[in-house]
Amino acid sequence: GYDVIALGELLIDFTPAGISDNGNPLFEMNPGGAPANVLVAVTRLGGSCAFIGKVGDDHFGHFLKQMLENNNVDTRGLKYTSQANTTLAFVHLDDKGERSFTFLRNPGADTLLEEHEVETDIIDKGKIFHFGSLSMTHQPAERATLKAVEYAKQNGKVISYDPNWRPSLWKDVDMAKQKMILGLRYADIVKLSEEELKLLTEEPDIERAAQIVFDMGVKLVLVTLGDQGCYYMHSSGRGHVPAYQVKVVDTTGAGDAFLGGMLYNISRIDCPIEKMDCHQLEEIIRFANATAALCITKRGGIPAMPSIDEVEQLLK
Ligand code: ATP
Repeated sequence: GYDVIALGELLIDFTPAGISDNGNPLFEMNPGGAPANVLVAVTRLGGSCAFIGKVGDDHFGHFLKQMLENNNVDTRGLKYTSQANTTLAFVHLDDKGERSFTFLRNPGADTLLEEHEVETDIIDKGKIFHFGSLSMTHQPAERATLKAVEYAKQNGKVISYDPNWRPSLWKDVDMAKQKMILGLRYADIVKLSEEELKLLTEEPDIERAAQIVFDMGVKLVLVTLGDQGCYYMHSSGRGHVPAYQVKVVDTTGAGDAFLGGMLYNISRIDCPIEKMDCHQLEEIIRFANATAALCITKRGGIPAMPSIDEVEQLLK
C-alpha cells in the first residue's frame, strides 16, 4: 500500500538562471506542480506514494515521469496524452525578488485527465488522498478530480487539500473562490496560506477565519505563516507553532515540504485525526516546520526536499 496518493497538476517551471554568453536570459527546467512536490517530500522522509495525473507525450512529459520514478513515486496513474503538450510555466522575478508566472496551458495536458482514467484501485491502496485546487480550473480534469475525491472519501481515506491561489489560471476570481471552497467540503486536513484563508473566508482575523473553515467540517486546519510558522485549529486545541530559524535561499516548495512533513506523520499514527491529542499534533507540526525550513535552505522545490535524517538532526 501507499501512505499518500496525490492527484493533480504536474508541470515544468522554467525559473530564471542568469544570463548567457550572448547576453540573453537563461531558464532552468524544474519539475513542478504542488501535489507532486508534496509526494516527493513524503518519499524523501521514507514514505510510499503514488501520483495520478496527465502529461503530454513529449520531452517534458517523459522528463517528469522519469523524475517521479527517480524519487520513488509510483507513476502507474500518470497518463500521457497526444492531445496537448505538457503544461509549462515561466517564472519571472521582479526587482524585489517577487515571483510572477506565465503559464502555457491552453489547454495543458494536466487539464485533460478524464474521469475514466482515474484508477480507483490505486486510491484503494492509499491511506491519505491529497489534492489541490488547480486540477479544478478546467474540464475534464475537474470532473476527474471530484470523482477521485468522492471515491476516496466514500472509501474512508483521509482527505488532504491544498487550495492554491494562482489568479491567472482561473477564468475569474468568483469561479476561483467557488471551486477552492468546493474542495473544503471534502477535506479532513487543509493547508492554506494566510492570503488564501482570508480570500476564501472574507475574514481578516486569522483565528475567526480558521474557525469558519473548521466549522465546514475540516478536522485539522493548518495556516502557514512563512517565517512565523503555522497556526492550527483542531478539536483538541488551537495555537501557533513557531518556525525554525534558517538562512533563506529559495522558498519554492516550502508549503509543499510542510504538508509532506505533516502527511508523512499522519499516515503513521493509528488513531483517526480528530482523536489526536494536542501535544502529539504540535509535535507533528514542529516536524513539518522543520521539513519546510530545510527545504528553503536549498535552491529549487523537489531537489530541496530533506531526508528524515536531516529533519531529525534539526529537531534535536
Ligand atoms: P508556498 O509559498 O510554498 O506555495 P505557503 O504559502 O504555504 O506555500 P509559507 O507560509 O511561506 O508557504 O511557508 C510554509 C512553511 O514553510 C511555514 O509554515 C514554515 O514552516 C516554513 N517557512 C516558510 N518561510 C520560512 C522562513 N523564512 N523561515 C523558516 N521557515 C519558513
